[in-house]
Amino acid sequence: MIKTVGYAAQQAGAKLTPFEFLHRELGANDILIEILYCGVCHSDVHQARGEWGAKIFPMVPGHEIVGSVSRVGSDVTRYKVGDSVGVGCMVDSCRQCVSCHENLEQFCVEGFTATYNSLERERGTPTWGGYANYIVVREEFVLRIAPKADLARTAPLLCAGITTYSPMRQWNVGQGQKVAVIGLGGLGHMAIKIAAALGAEVTLFTRSNAKQEDALRLGASKVVVSKDDAAMAAQHNQFDFILDTVSAPHDLNAHLQTLKRDGVMVMVGMSPDSMPVSPAPLVMGRRILAGSLIGGIAETQEMLDFCVQHNISSDIELINIQDINQAYDRMDKADVKYRFVIDMGSLQTVKS
Ligand SMILES: [Zn+2]
Ligand SMILES: [Zn+2]
Repeated sequence: MIKTVGYAAQQAGAKLTPFEFLHRELGANDILIEILYCGVCHSDVHQARGEWGAKIFPMVPGHEIVGSVSRVGSDVTRYKVGDSVGVGCMVDSCRQCVSCHENLEQFCVEGFTATYNSLERERGTPTWGGYANYIVVREEFVLRIAPKADLARTAPLLCAGITTYSPMRQWNVGQGQKVAVIGLGGLGHMAIKIAAALGAEVTLFTRSNAKQEDALRLGASKVVVSKDDAAMAAQHNQFDFILDTVSAPHDLNAHLQTLKRDGVMVMVGMSPDSMPVSPAPLVMGRRILAGSLIGGIAETQEMLDFCVQHNISSDIELINIQDINQAYDRMDKADVKYRFVIDMGSLQTVKS
């Protein structure tokens, strides 16, 4: 067993505190990764508070993991000690169903094994996430990170990056298209960068003007304040594709009307509350409202390679693990530009 130290919530809503636990000993296909950086995703906050799905406590959150290969199992062929690698939201799946065979492990019919707050397929023991010094993962679920990548700024790509990249690839966003992004947070800021790199002209829909300057710097060419009815009306029938990153209730119909005929709006935020959808904007313009969930492992690798090639990474605020509870509080107020990333070197001073 691999002795590991990290930060855990002992119960739903508890503050995260130092926690010692054991990862499984390496199987033939497993890789032991020394975690160097871990991004802090909004879903970490929800899950640590017991607000979403499974609730397995103690819980070590974290699914935007970047680190270095520390040891490999006897049958591992793709990685060697010292390689820079990443782990995202998934650490396993059935590997046999139609979705797994199509490299869409996130839609595994048996449900994928999440990086934390989930149970290992073989042993039924809890999975532990990236707010820790080590993780053990099957090599099929490990991503390669290019030597020239900035590791800390790459960590958020493992969830925020793939969540925004996958729907743009699925719906063929590219050169000459007009794309809108709703919301400028962790997801939205990656969406703007990726859409711009794919060659699209990007507009940000946001509730206030406060983020205008940032949006333009990140690659948007226009900012529209969605509370301004006249400004919204001026955008009708403009966009080929809209990525909706907002995870709280908002007016879907006003945004749907800004799509062109046959345009697509994809939701990646998961509001816990329902939102009314009027058939009219869908019927009248043959418009499409769709959803998307992270991305498969192969596509995640494609995204990482795309980001290195286009020099894209996340805008981050690097924190020590001791500051994680304060970071959660600030995320409640959307006070982060645009992702907290934990420097796991700070764990060395933690004694549990
Ligand atoms: Zn996430
Ligand atoms: Zn499967």
